[in-house]
Amino acid sequence: MIVEIVSTGTELLLGQITDTNTPYLARKCNELGLNVLYHSTVGDNPVRMSQVIATALGRADIIITTGGLGPTQGDITKEVTAKQLGLPLVLHEPSMQRIQCFFAQRHLYMPDSNLRQAMIPKGAIVLDNERGTAPGVIVEHKGKTVIHLPGPPHELEGMFESAVAPYLRQRFGAQGIILSKVLRTFGIGESSLEEQIKDYILAQSNPTIALLARSGEIHIRLTARAATETEAKFLIGKLEEKIRERVGSFIFGNDHETLEEVVGKLLIAKGLTIALAESCTGGLITSKLTDIAGSSAYLTGSIVCYANEIKIEAVGVPADTIHSHGAVSAETAIAMSLAIRDRFRTGLGVGVTGIAGPGGETPDKPVGLVHISIAGPDGILHRQYHFTGQRTSIKNRTALAALNQIRQFVEE
Ligand code: AMP
Ligand code: MG
Repeated sequence: MIVEIVSTGTELLLGQITDTNTPYLARKCNELGLNVLYHSTVGDNPVRMSQVIATALGRADIIITTGGLGPTQGDITKEVTAKQLGLPLVLHEPSMQRIQCFFAQRHLYMPDSNLRQAMIPKGAIVLDNERGTAPGVIVEHKGKTVIHLPGPPHELEGMFESAVAPYLRQRFGAQGIILSKVLRTFGIGESSLEEQIKDYILAQSNPTIALLARSGEIHIRLTARAATETEAKFLIGKLEEKIRERVGSFIFGNDHETLEEVVGKLLIAKGLTIALAESCTGGLITSKLTDIAGSSAYLTGSIVCYANEIKIEAVGVPADTIHSHGAVSAETAIAMSLAIRDRFRTGLGVGVTGIAGPGGETPDKPVGLVHISIAGPDGILHRQYHFTGQRTSIKNRTALAALNQIRQFVEE
């Protein structure tokens, strides 16, 4: 079953609001095993909307529209589609009463225009709206199914869960399911990753493989279609195993797992505490770590140390180290990690120092040069990085790199 999602509303075309309904509907349809092959967006213009609906009717079995069920003259989705299908609109008494009650309960005056919302294409199934006035509509006509849903996301989602999903399941139930799993990688570029698993990508059929770049991370999305969830999971599992054999060391988590979450879990599992001395990240690594509930169990504290005196006095870096090697150097990063570990009596100490730019570079120390050191009970892991981009992007990349380095250090 081919699905087209049509979002309507001039405000979407103008970029004044972001279309969140389409991704929501796409995910939900995929979970039901329906093939979403087209997304369209059109403004509240009858001619162009008519064309979009006609195109959708020509290429999809199920058309789901969002928006344009409101009471105003700009809300025309139902009218335009009914005209396209050659169906008259008729008054749906129960919806009219429900809308009247909606206003009465809130002691509000009901404008006549709201009655337009109770006009329904002849023969359609009406979906009650428990969160607003506009009813939803399902029209089955000449082998096509058109589903009209309201624009406000909480109304649309409520209606989808309570009425549309059960309808689709019952009507098109034997579609099986489409299941996706995301393997999140860090520290490898998109093209290198592709090179490593190119043969799998070229040979893909079920599951399919997609690489997606997401703010410093590369995600590998595996999507399987199968009759049951167990079967889909099995298909994904087999391919995942093969991919992990090649690039497993770069994969830090699945689906929605973040680096800071993974690091937190590892620290708890190993019974380790951590303290950080952050220079060029201004506390960003600590901030990310503390986004995780319960992080106070392993993060004892951090020092944001920009001035040399603070690195020396507050963190405990030997003055000699800074004076001989500079604030941005492997030696200083290592000394910061050792000193903060010592001072805060933690299992791990992290030292980060670098040049976030745009100024401050020297011939041998360019903007983007970053040293990250981790000191633990059994040794030190120091790495040097060269990041590019704006100041905030360098800070962010440094934070992610540090979290990843902590992850690898703890895992090993
Ligand atoms: P409408 O029913 O088209 O008048 O839409 C009512 C409201 O729903 C809009 O003002 C938006 O706030 C919201 N809305 C409409 N379409 C979408 C969409 N595709 N994604 C997210 N919100 C939407
Ligand atoms: Mg609108």
